[in-house]
Amino acid sequence: MDTLRKAPRDIVVVGNGIAGLTACDTLRAEGFDGRITVIGDEPVAPYSRPALSKALLRDGDDLTSHLLPEATHGATERRGIAAVGVDVDRQRVRLADGDEAPYDALVIATGTRARRLGRAHGNDEYTVRTLADALALRARLASRPSVVVVGGGPLGMEIASGAVAAGCATTLVSKGMPLASQLGELLAAPFHAAALAQGLTIVTAGSAEIVMRDGVAVVALGDGTVIEAEVIVSAIGDAPNVEWLASSELLTGGALVVDRRGLVRPNIAAAGDVAAFPHAGRVARVPLWTSAIDQAKVAAAALLRPDAPELAFQQYFWTEAFGISLKAIGPTPVVGEPEVVEGTVEQGVLRWRQPDGAATAVALDYRIPIPKLRRLTACNP
Ligand SMILES: Cc1cc2nc3c(=O)[nH]c(=O)nc-3n(C[C@H](O)[C@H](O)[C@H](O)COP(=O)(O)OP(=O)(O)OC[C@H]3O[C@@H](n4cnc5c(N)ncnc54)[C@H](O)[C@@H]3O)c2cc1C
Repeated sequence: MDTLRKAPRDIVVVGNGIAGLTACDTLRAEGFDGRITVIGDEPVAPYSRPALSKALLRDGDDLTSHLLPEATHGATERRGIAAVGVDVDRQRVRLADGDEAPYDALVIATGTRARRLGRAHGNDEYTVRTLADALALRARLASRPSVVVVGGGPLGMEIASGAVAAGCATTLVSKGMPLASQLGELLAAPFHAAALAQGLTIVTAGSAEIVMRDGVAVVALGDGTVIEAEVIVSAIGDAPNVEWLASSELLTGGALVVDRRGLVRPNIAAAGDVAAFPHAGRVARVPLWTSAIDQAKVAAAALLRPDAPELAFQQYFWTEAFGISLKAIGPTPVVGEPEVVEGTVEQGVLRWRQPDGAATAVALDYRIPIPKLRRLTACNP
């Protein structure tokens, strides 16, 4: 308990997503009984962001798939208000309404926002990052407009899948075979085939932008092709929410870089999509759900205990689109032929071993408990 006696008494968490929520829960689980204040610019409680482009877009009248259990950490939650700056010397977070939140330890968990394609904003270009974004798109799809989705990654494919399921004539613009650069061609192929079979039009293009033509927003491809649709959705990646830290001296070359325990300073931690952390020989963000959870657990503990463990990072990723689901533990994209552990290559558990000893285990359209899948990536499963 000696280490707890030296723990901070006032902790501010900026960002009310899964990293912020996990940090609060971890602080309590570690025995912190001081005050926690959460500052979040969204007006709602934390929710499952992955559900936004999956069940929430797809599943009829069910508007509950994104809900998380009510928080039990007892923090003071200030929702719908943004942090606009931090004074590291005075240990205060500045808020958009002019108020300040004093801290003796700070967790930065402000996540990312959707990158946008066009200069045109508003209804001309939909993105799916927030609950409000997803509900707006869902409502628009209900009238079955024609849709073009730009971006052939998991998010673009999930949105395209939702649009096709809603009965919309849908075109996906992708740099190559959708999902291939994230998963590898072998794993991308079944999604590609199912998407085509369900009526998705896939257009390959090196670049795309939104331009106005006769007062209407259209997608213009690098080769001069123009795609018109009533709804344009972009899914072209994310940008970390670090601007509010610009004058704080916490950024390194514009990035929020943490150490192996999630610390930027001894009393300032960062976790989730916003944070670049050391792993696999580099320092980079890994904007995935369980990455945010794992980072937040380590970072919150590090604020309280000098002996808190370092992050033992292993990537876990899942997606579902056009009726196919995939769970992958370990590095992707994968190359070469897999070992079939259960089932078949089309529907089963597959494993790739890398020359450096790392392994990737994938459940393709196949139910398997995650811990069992994880065990398959151990050296001697
Ligand atoms: C549609 C969608 C589908 C996804 N699907 C998957 C998936 O299938 N599998 C997977 O592993 N990952 C998926 N992800 C990624 C995953 O959701 C994220 O990795 C995760 O939500 C990151 O959590 P976070 O808490 O770091 O950031 P966020 O969830 O972005 O939360 C950060 C919060 O901080 C708020 N904030 C930002 N700036 C400020 C400020 N200045 N002041 C106060 N508050 C601020 C933001 O509004 C937000 O509420 C998906 C993401 C999206 C958008």
